[in-house]
Amino acid sequence: QSKTAGRDTYRFFTPEMNIRAIEKLDQENALRKALDREEFVLHYQPKVDLSNGWVTGMEALLRWKRPEHGVVEPLEFIPALEQTGLITRVGAWVIESVCRQIAEWRHAGIGEIPVSVNVSGRQFSRSTLNQDVIRATQANGIQPALLEFELQTERALRENSIDSDLLELELTESSLMMHAKKTVSILQRLKALGIQISIDDFGTGYSSLAYVKRFPIDVLKIDRSFIQEITTNSADAAITTAIIDMAHSLHVRVVAEGVETAEQFDFLKGRGCDEVQGFYLSPPLPANEISQLLLSGNRRLKPTPCRPNTGE
Ligand code: C2E
Ligand code: MG
Ligand code: MG
Ligand code: MG
Repeated sequence: QSKTAGRDTYRFFTPEMNIRAIEKLDQENALRKALDREEFVLHYQPKVDLSNGWVTGMEALLRWKRPEHGVVEPLEFIPALEQTGLITRVGAWVIESVCRQIAEWRHAGIGEIPVSVNVSGRQFSRSTLNQDVIRATQANGIQPALLEFELQTERALRENSIDSDLLELELTESSLMMHAKKTVSILQRLKALGIQISIDDFGTGYSSLAYVKRFPIDVLKIDRSFIQEITTNSADAAITTAIIDMAHSLHVRVVAEGVETAEQFDFLKGRGCDEVQGFYLSPPLPANEISQLLLSGNRRLKPTPCRPNTGE
């Protein structure tokens, strides 16, 4: 390739790159149609109170059932949704679906189940000011403040008669920093509605607890990469312990992500972590399986080690 690059400059793309570019375009076109064709589904992963094993709520995780491709994981298509701006439509659909699901679980007598939703920074930055609000506020000489995202969220809660504290929004450190100024005011208004706010994947970015002071944060979710080696790597153990202690002194709850073993579970319990989420307790499951799980007896999940010591 490099040999011929001087003469055949048009061969900037290798055939392999062309195929990937075509695949990317195919994927984008398919994504544009996916919402209308109802190819998106949400799976729900339980979170568990470490002190008593009770299910405290769920995290909604997006899946794309792409025809002839099977189930596509979010990391394979969310970047494309963000780049194309489709994330605002899909994100609104996610919040609507979650609110409908919360209402459905209530109607089925399962109870009021809190659910957290992942929100990408682009969802905020791409979200446009609602034109109706702009017109109405301009007529009254008021600064337009509400974004489409806030209106959609508020409407989804209202139409399903959902208590706003059952909805939690998960944002990553990097998306908080991307548009920090804009984000602070959006989060403050969402918080004022009663919505819970959490920082996802904590520890992978700047990991500053100053976020807690700057943004109205209720929950910190410690990233799976720390939990993975929590019982074998003393630095990860120390960092996790410090995060838990500092978060608690700031009145912020701590959730550990990606708990896979009894050892990790026990370590976190010993350090006073509030909640855990991970394959050890349950993988993300379709809504109907979550309903069955919650309907069957009590709300305690029996831990199942996903990596039994035998087998490996
Ligand atoms: P996340 O929010 O940090 O979600 C946790 C991820 O860890 C999920 O991957 C979950 O399936 C996985 N996980 C849970 N427990 C374990 C465990 O014990 N071990 C291991 N190895 N993994 C575990 P998933 O569902 O593939 O989602 C990946 C990421 O995609 C999410 O990370 C989130 O950032 C993003 N995402 C998912 N759904 C949405 C959505 O609706 N909107 C947006 N904007 N992003 C989403
Ligand atoms: Mg998350
Ligand atoms: Mg996470
Ligand atoms: Mg993660």
